[in-house]
Amino acid sequence: VKTRSEYRKVTPEIISSLVEIVGEKDVLTGDKCFNYSKDEEIVAETHVPEVVVRPKDTASVARILKLADEGCIPVVPRGGGTGLSGGVVPVHGGIVISLEKMNKILEVDDDNFVATVQPGVTLAELYEAVESRGLYYPLFPGETNATLGGNVSTNAGGMRAIKYGVTRNFVLGLEVVLPGGDIIRTGGKYVKCSTGYELTQLLAGSEGTLAIITEIMLRLVPLPGKREVLCIPFPNLSDAINAVPAILKDGIIPVGIEWMEKSLIDLVKRFTGKEVPLRDYEAFLMIILEAGSEEEFLSISGRIEETCRKRGATDIFIPGTERAKRNLFEVREQFHTMLTHCNVIGTADIVVPRSCIVQLLEKSREKAADYDVIILAFGHAGDGNLHLYLVNEEGNISQEQTKELFKKIYELGVSLGGTISGEHGLGLSKKGYFPLAADKEKIDLLRRVKLAFDPNGIMNPGKIFDLDGD
Ligand SMILES: Cc1cc2nc3c(=O)[nH]c(=O)nc-3n(C[C@H](O)[C@H](O)[C@H](O)COP(=O)(O)OP(=O)(O)OC[C@H]3O[C@@H](n4cnc5c(N)ncnc54)[C@H](O)[C@@H]3O)c2cc1C
Repeated sequence: VKTRSEYRKVTPEIISSLVEIVGEKDVLTGDKCFNYSKDEEIVAETHVPEVVVRPKDTASVARILKLADEGCIPVVPRGGGTGLSGGVVPVHGGIVISLEKMNKILEVDDDNFVATVQPGVTLAELYEAVESRGLYYPLFPGETNATLGGNVSTNAGGMRAIKYGVTRNFVLGLEVVLPGGDIIRTGGKYVKCSTGYELTQLLAGSEGTLAIITEIMLRLVPLPGKREVLCIPFPNLSDAINAVPAILKDGIIPVGIEWMEKSLIDLVKRFTGKEVPLRDYEAFLMIILEAGSEEEFLSISGRIEETCRKRGATDIFIPGTERAKRNLFEVREQFHTMLTHCNVIGTADIVVPRSCIVQLLEKSREKAADYDVIILAFGHAGDGNLHLYLVNEEGNISQEQTKELFKKIYELGVSLGGTISGEHGLGLSKKGYFPLAADKEKIDLLRRVKLAFDPNGIMNPGKIFDLDGD
């Protein structure tokens, strides 16, 4: 097991070898590395890598990893850098391997409904390629500049999880490079597989700590008919969240159900001028639906309206035009960016059983008030995932107190049957709280799994858990 002092520095000889592998243009040093020191997390620890390399093929990745492994140099894989837990921060320095130039869509197989892509393909590029063939990659994890390599590595979720699940549910197979430079393939273009341990699913969500993903096979589905959205205001969040099980019990499976509060909608209005109709209510459900026809959509939305009205909703907004629909999504998609205008001291991405959302939020807000902290929040009502942004406008909370408050909130989430991260991963910023959700025996087993892939501990060290921790 390597500790920080045992990792070696990147020497001029290593730089020369990297240049030989990928060419001078794709080896970045000095100031050019600065943009690779963090991701999109608001309160971020930053570390500038010693060198950044941008390979274009799997063979180059294998040669780089072999070199790093032999030299005991830490390696951090990086996709679009849109992560929200510091997963790409090179805490121990070393080499950042940016997959940005491995961005080819290798195949869209419309007989088997499978897209095979390199890891640097962005979500936006994938959507365009498959939709032009009448196929659909239905997941929408918020940020379309994210890469598929990053999505798989964080097991990204997003707004369409009720109907479609999360990234791991769409990964059929992978090609990965192990730290020593060996290349392995997992899975394939099939649904069933009962042939040994399931490595595809182990690698999904492994946050670059086991191997580098160099090719991904993704399941596709047919393009849905109509996609519509409803915005339903409620007098308070509790009524809004309580309507969700009733909608699902009625046999309706929306693509997603998002919840939002007036405070955030007002923030978006203040900075962008965008607003949702009926914005003077306290809480909203934004329900995304797919339907085969206008009649089917009207029937489903009528049933949802009736259910919600019985639970306190007094109105319903169905955008009549594509523009109005787009506007609703844009307001929702602005939340993260708008929150960068506040004095955010940290964020959480907790998931709890969906019936516990309000309880978690209310109790967290009570605890936060003791520290002069307010919590602005939004999330996925259908799947219990909450995004909490802790704001301390006075700037009077210490780092120790911040950690103490987060610990209390995570303990609360775990006590309600939830866990630390629903979709962003533990990365760097949430790893310290992992023991609250997993006992020592489990973390020890994960360490042994990590060492089976990465005996020298070079892969994204300092993420998820420490190898030499208690
Ligand atoms: C505005 C905004 C909205 C967002 N909304 C959502 C949302 O709704 N749902 C959601 O789940 N996330 C969301 N995110 C977070 C982010 O987009 C996801 O975590 C995404 O999966 C990160 O992809 P990336 O390519 O940017 O990965 P990066 O940030 O570059 O990397 C993330 C992790 O994956 C590892 N990694 C990257 N590529 C590889 C590879 N090829 N092989 C091995 N490891 C690799 C990295 O080492 C790191 O640990 C949002 C982010 C922003 C900024």
